[in-house]
Amino acid sequence: MDSRSRICEIDPDSGFCHGVVRAVNKAEEILSEGGRLYSLGAMVHNTAELRRLAGKGLEIIDLEGIRRLPEGSTVLIRAHGEPPSTYALAGSRGIRVVDCTCPVVLKLQKDIAAAFAKVCAGSGKVVIFGKRGHAEVNGLVGQTGGKAIVIENLSELNDLDLTGHIELFSQTTRDPGEYAALTDALKQKNSDITVHDTICRQVFGRHRKLAAFAAGHDVILFVSGRDSSNGKVLYELCREHNQRSYWVEDPSEVDPLWIADACAIGITGATSTPRWQLEAVAARCKLYNP
Ligand code: SF4
Repeated sequence: MDSRSRICEIDPDSGFCHGVVRAVNKAEEILSEGGRLYSLGAMVHNTAELRRLAGKGLEIIDLEGIRRLPEGSTVLIRAHGEPPSTYALAGSRGIRVVDCTCPVVLKLQKDIAAAFAKVCAGSGKVVIFGKRGHAEVNGLVGQTGGKAIVIENLSELNDLDLTGHIELFSQTTRDPGEYAALTDALKQKNSDITVHDTICRQVFGRHRKLAAFAAGHDVILFVSGRDSSNGKVLYELCREHNQRSYWVEDPSEVDPLWIADACAIGITGATSTPRWQLEAVAARCKLYNP
């Protein structure tokens, strides 16, 4: 193989999702005006991008950090959203909130609040398919005063009291196939269920396209922070469709042996992977051209 016959393609559907682009743009806009800005939690699960934003003056804090900030400080709420208690805490401390909750998550929070209002007087339950402790899930559970049941996987179904009417929702970034399997299993136990279609369209469409992208290349280089839950789901999908899929956080992690005999290299990433990082990995691959 010579270098002219090798293709190194960046997945056209990868890069930040709309929700993250919106939040990062807002942060950069505020920072460019010279203001001090605090982000409640990491804006993206991506160390390199966080380093870039820190260089512009963004500081990451946790809930305890809000208690320590001087009155009048500005705190950005990231795309994942927050429970009502966070807004109450910020309000009580005189903190200015820049709310960058993704509109898709915001709608899901409202729908969960409405469903909970409907069932809470009786024996009904709000059930959320998601990762316990994930920021988005915390924000969703907060809409029910902590009463929603979170299910991470099918194996947990037998340990839960799932009687009464069920309003079922999914975290926006869960795998559509797993959500469908959970829905079927729940219906076997309890037919009194309303299923809400709440997986983000960008994620839903992405799974189908990513499977085809992974299958269509000899090697896949998956670029993402290792603590991204969306990254884990999408990487597993790549592995399912292409055994030669490798996860890298940084271009320096690309092993030339992985791609030595590859004619078609596909570079893709999670919804929290910035485009510039995918381009850096592509540039690294070109250094190893035969
Ligand atoms: S994955 Fe979808 S719902 Fe989640 S932040 Fe991005 S656009 Fe919003």
